[in-house]
Amino acid sequence: MIAPIIATVAVAAPLPQPLSYLVPPELAAEVVVGARVRVPLGRRNATGFVLDLAGAPAEKMRAIAEVFPEPPLFAADFVPFLLRAADYYRYPPGEALRTALPAGLGGSTAAMPPRHEQHYRIVAAGMVPAGAKQRQLLAYIASHGEVTASELRAAFPAPQTTLRRLVELGLLSERSSERPRDPFFAQPLPADPPVTPSPAQAAALAALAAALAAGFFAPFLLQGVTGSGKTEVYLRAIASALAQGKQALVLVPEIALTPQLVGRFRARFAGSGVGVAVLHSGLSDGERIDAWRQVATGAAAIVIGARSAVFAPLPRVGIIVVDEEHEGSYKQGEGFRYHARDLALLRGQMAGATVLLGSATPAVTTCYRAMIGLTTLLRLDQRVLARTLPAVELVDLRGIALAGVLAPPLLTALQENLAAGEQSLLLLNRRGFAPYILCTDCGTTFRCPNCEITLTWHQGRRQLRCHYCDYHTPPPEICSGCGGSRIFPEGAGTERLAEELLAAFPAARIARMDRDTTSRRGTQEKILARMLAGDIDILVGTQMVAKGHDFPGVTLVGVVNADSTLNFPDFRSAERTFSLLTQVAGRAGRGELPGRVLVQTRAPEHYAVACAARHDYLGYYEQEIAFRRELAYPPFGFLVNLVLAGNDAAATSRAAALLATGLEQATTADVEVLGPAPCPLSRLRGKHRWQILLKSQRRPPLQRLLDHLDGLRRRLPKGVVLSLDVDPLDML
Ligand code: ADP
Ligand code: ZN
Repeated sequence: MIAPIIATVAVAAPLPQPLSYLVPPELAAEVVVGARVRVPLGRRNATGFVLDLAGAPAEKMRAIAEVFPEPPLFAADFVPFLLRAADYYRYPPGEALRTALPAGLGGSTAAMPPRHEQHYRIVAAGMVPAGAKQRQLLAYIASHGEVTASELRAAFPAPQTTLRRLVELGLLSERSSERPRDPFFAQPLPADPPVTPSPAQAAALAALAAALAAGFFAPFLLQGVTGSGKTEVYLRAIASALAQGKQALVLVPEIALTPQLVGRFRARFAGSGVGVAVLHSGLSDGERIDAWRQVATGAAAIVIGARSAVFAPLPRVGIIVVDEEHEGSYKQGEGFRYHARDLALLRGQMAGATVLLGSATPAVTTCYRAMIGLTTLLRLDQRVLARTLPAVELVDLRGIALAGVLAPPLLTALQENLAAGEQSLLLLNRRGFAPYILCTDCGTTFRCPNCEITLTWHQGRRQLRCHYCDYHTPPPEICSGCGGSRIFPEGAGTERLAEELLAAFPAARIARMDRDTTSRRGTQEKILARMLAGDIDILVGTQMVAKGHDFPGVTLVGVVNADSTLNFPDFRSAERTFSLLTQVAGRAGRGELPGRVLVQTRAPEHYAVACAARHDYLGYYEQEIAFRRELAYPPFGFLVNLVLAGNDAAATSRAAALLATGLEQATTADVEVLGPAPCPLSRLRGKHRWQILLKSQRRPPLQRLLDHLDGLRRRLPKGVVLSLDVDPLDML
């Protein structure tokens, strides 16, 4: 065999294509597909990833400088998917890979080495050592077969010296094996009582089993109301895939990735010895690296993870589940702006896998694909065990004078629920005490100097904070506008709501869950555990409380302000409102007792609110799809958002005008070039921002126009950066 001479390397740098490098003979054995390497780039060295190897030499090619001493990060069949993804989102492949890899593997520092664990076993039975502790240890090991050091540490105080002595005496043998760092390792597995699938579950499973047996790409939408047993369908479909020797990838929104969920998967598959790896951003570097390695080596047959797990390097993926597929958090907001659900479909297509998208409130675009037959629709219309969906009452706030943020009907309901000893959940999609503070004499508000948006008042910390750039400052004592001192918080966030509740119900146990109270590792798990144990009467929170959790004790859900998402300046505001209301309502009545939901709103007739109250997805879908069709928004039109950001206001706006003109000259009649216009956040983190929106009813002409962008980008003035968002979700 001729040793490969040329390596195609995705260099982690803003280059549109991978580069070729010579493989020095002394590195030939280590330069394999998936290896992380150091390569010369211009006058520096850069990190890169080997995508391909070929035999043909070329002239004047530079050589790979170094190979990282670690196993390959992915196999050859992963490369086409990665390249397609990078190409679709117009992102440099090396940078895309760096984004996809766990922190600690994508950079230029060596990966944390794997952790090892010692195992002990009896060698020479019959010999009786002198010490009592030695005898106890031996007896314990003899009765357990092979025992790990950590088990022994749990059973005996400081066993290390004694163990070493017993090994020296030849009574014990010792071996070492890799032990993945795993935050869920010590967690006790929940009970997994066997259930009989309902007829609807059984029908869905039969369709999935047929697709898995066929082994071709097959996309499904599992539309099931909250509590209808979707997870049970995932678990059983995954079991069928595993039975065929395939692997499973499960994507969940970051906030839903709780120990509860991971435990459910591990409990189901623990008996069959199937490894379940977990990938998400809350892990430490070491934990993520270990999980990635378990996946790459095939040691884990099931991978559960948030967004970036769509890139997990599973060698034989047979099924990809995307739970809560409508969730906005599947879209990466900066840099490599991929959508994990869309990439799951692409990956499934390339791997010939079954793709199962699950949701109670599918994205309109996803439902449309099912309606036109591109995706097979499976439905679970009823909750399991004949549990009913909660009754939703709308509380019309028009004409009610509020003392705080809670209207009398919601206060009364909370009072009654407390008296009955049951749990309540309150959603207010805004953290902090008040969204802004205001001078009541002259109307001056206080804005972030970097972002020009109002600063949120955080009472506990006595700080005004910017929720975009984290700028913070103590509150002003006098108004910069009029010199007055009557400055008060306006509106309410979760912090104020919790305070109002405490005043109204002094004896209640009230907790708050939002990004402020869960920023430290483990804090969210603590709140969830207290909630499950019944140690919280009222849980207040942002959308974090709305999604995914299964709190059997919650019988009352209150939505403080349904209009806050509805009034957002975005064509998806109705979609977001409908889905958030449905999801949060679904938190009520999941246990033995029925649930009740109260929604405060000033827009009770709006279809997103009215349909959510009736649990009427199709009614909502009909209105939403008509609106999309009329304005040629997705799924009837495709969008690309171009954002120009720079420190200099004039240079940035000039660059935007220049780029728009260039695009207009290059475009065909099929693609509209809208703008340039200042971004809704026209200043962010100190940068001035302009946007140009490209809109087309078909993708190919849009992609062709983007081909011109590299040329146009080179003509931009220095200091103005162009970023590109294909299929944007937010256009802030
Ligand atoms: P979803 O994911 O649709 O919200 P889950 O899968 O979490 O619903 O199911 C809700 C609860 O019902 C879980 O506790 C689950 O174990 C239980 N469950 C699911 N399917 C059945 C069934 N066929 N019979 C009885 N209980 C079921
Ligand atoms: Zn800011």
